[in-house]
This record gives sequence, structure tokens and C-alpha cells, in this order.
Amino acid sequence: MEKAPQARLDALAQHIIESDVCPHLRGQAIQLVMGSGNPEAEVVFIGEAPGKQEDIQGVPFVGAAGKFLDSMLADAGLNRSDVYITNTVKYRPPNNRDPKPEEKAAFLPYLLKELEIINPKAIVALGRHSMNTFLPGASISELHGEPVDITLDNGQVVTLIPLYHPAAALYNGGLRQTLQDDFAKMIAIVRGQ
Ligand code: URA
Repeated sequence: MEKAPQARLDALAQHIIESDVCPHLRGQAIQLVMGSGNPEAEVVFIGEAPGKQEDIQGVPFVGAAGKFLDSMLADAGLNRSDVYITNTVKYRPPNNRDPKPEEKAAFLPYLLKELEIINPKAIVALGRHSMNTFLPGASISELHGEPVDITLDNGQVVTLIPLYHPAAALYNGGLRQTLQDDFAKMIAIVRGQ
């Protein structure tokens, strides 16, 4: 019998460690930050990379940006156990610098495997790094809030909904309302699926 999704995700985490993915990041980080939440969720949120708090706690989106994400989920009557939250890169880049293309490329097969295990209906890409993983070269200022059906490498068809990154909205008051509006639109799209 096939293993339960959480057991497969745990095995994937072990595989990332054993394969020594991005040893230069691993050497400077405290720990691997795998995704968390419901391994059978219909919606997967994908951020950029863990920050300081995430590195300390080993859980994605637990710092300031995560609190904002939690509050938008709560506004929609959801909490973390209803969704799955992960990142493109699973070790904290030093000083929270942007992940490099080669780091995103190194983690991509594992992100795709994570998505294959969870098999969501929708992927919410938080910020341009996450969005560009699926739509290379696309501009977040043009595509935010717009659903687009994409086919993953394994043939899985999912609805990708790019949103501004919650951290960007925290530092740019003008984006805050846009993100909240897009978030409500995303929830309506997912509920209508
Ligand atoms: N920002 C991200 O992109 N991911 C996290 O896990 C936290 C902050």
C-alpha cells in the first residue's frame, strides 16, 4: 500500500538532507525548513525562502510575514491546518538575501515532488521568486491576483494564483490592500473550483 502523504513528505525531507542539497546554505542555516500544514490540502502556498524565525523554529512563515498570512487566512475562516505552506528554497539564505537561481534550481525537483505528493487544486505563489519558478520572466505587478492553469512536469494541471509576497506588503503600505483584495479573490476562485 502507498504510504500516507505525511510519511512521504517526511521521507522527502530526509532525502533532501541525505542528498546534501545546497551544502553552502545548509552550512550557514540552523535547519531544513520543510513545508507544513495539511498534506492533503487543496491549496499550497509557496514562499521564497525561510527567514530568521523560520530557521530557528523549523517552520515556514512564522515571522512577521507569516503573521500577516495567518491573519488573511483567518479573515477567510481558515487556519494553517486547512492549507499547506512551503518555500521554493528550504534553507535560510544568509542575511535573508534573495535566493540565487542555482539555489532555486537545486530545490526545484523537491518542490515538484512535494506538489506531486500533496496534489493540490491550486498553488498560491507568494512573490516573484515563487511565481517565476512556474512562469519564468513573468511580472508580479502584471499577474498578481490572476489565476492561470499550468501543467507541472508530471502532467498535473493546477491553477496558479500569484500574489504579492506578504513581506513586501508589510513594507509597502500601498500593496497591503492589493494583497488583501487578491487574497479574497483567490479564496473565491478556490472555493468555486
Ligand atoms: N518569507 C518566505 O518567503 N518564506 C518564509 O518561510 C518566511 C518568510
